[in-house]
Amino acid sequence: MHIEIDHVSMRYQAPDGEIEALRDVSFSVPDHTFVSIVGPSGCGKSTLLSLLAGLEKPTDGALLLDGEPIRGPTEKIGFMPQRDQLFEWRSIWRNVLLGPEIRGDDTKARREMVRTLLADYALAPFKDKVPSQLSGGMRQRCALIRTLAVEPGVLLLDEPFSALDYQTRLAVSADIARIIRQSGKTAILVTHDISEAISMSDRIVVLSHRPGTVRAIHDLTEMESLNPMERRGAPEFQALFNQIWEELDVNV
Ligand code: ADP
Repeated sequence: MHIEIDHVSMRYQAPDGEIEALRDVSFSVPDHTFVSIVGPSGCGKSTLLSLLAGLEKPTDGALLLDGEPIRGPTEKIGFMPQRDQLFEWRSIWRNVLLGPEIRGDDTKARREMVRTLLADYALAPFKDKVPSQLSGGMRQRCALIRTLAVEPGVLLLDEPFSALDYQTRLAVSADIARIIRQSGKTAILVTHDISEAISMSDRIVVLSHRPGTVRAIHDLTEMESLNPMERRGAPEFQALFNQIWEELDVNV
């Protein structure tokens, strides 16, 4: 599925006046591509995701999914939040089946599909455990499988690795990037981590300070054959990192 973000602006009405979160943002996310959005905190990244998820409507502009305006939440779009939000009182198996269960789609075929996902991503032996018995990386995989279980065409990922320590984060982000590529989904990742964006994406959209505008768009075609770990060691990596760092105009 492809996404078009077409001159989107978003202003919130707050008690002490208007907050302009996004201003005239346009970019596209082609079918089967992995796009990261990086930007300083408060620049409207989460706002953009909630517009894409159909949870809010833009003040101006349009968001299109396969050419059709996004008018509200749709099952074509799956969401992976910052915390894995697995339920401790449910087994891993019952956690990953939550989506189909809520939709009344807990069929034999669906269960087979979820079973295959668990096996493919080395979680089958843990299906009867509860979340606290899994490592941080396994929990993230489990959260991703839960999102994939309802077969969305698009995945939205909101800083999904922010709760993990650095080493785990490197390994898990590489792992998750591989799973998403294998699944052939269109994915949008929000992150403030430049290295993570370079290691995982086909395209990076850099947003400015609030109100978020598009500062730059980078296509990572020269690194497309490299996996996330190889990218981190590639000669192009540092140059691109420096360029995005400049574009972000980070103040400390
Ligand atoms: P980011 O994810 O990049 O940190 P957000 O999208 O969360 O940024 O927020 C962008 C700006 O919009 C912030 O100033 C935030 O306070 C404001 N904002 C976000 N949601 C709302 C809301 N529902 N009502 C009012 N202001 C909001």
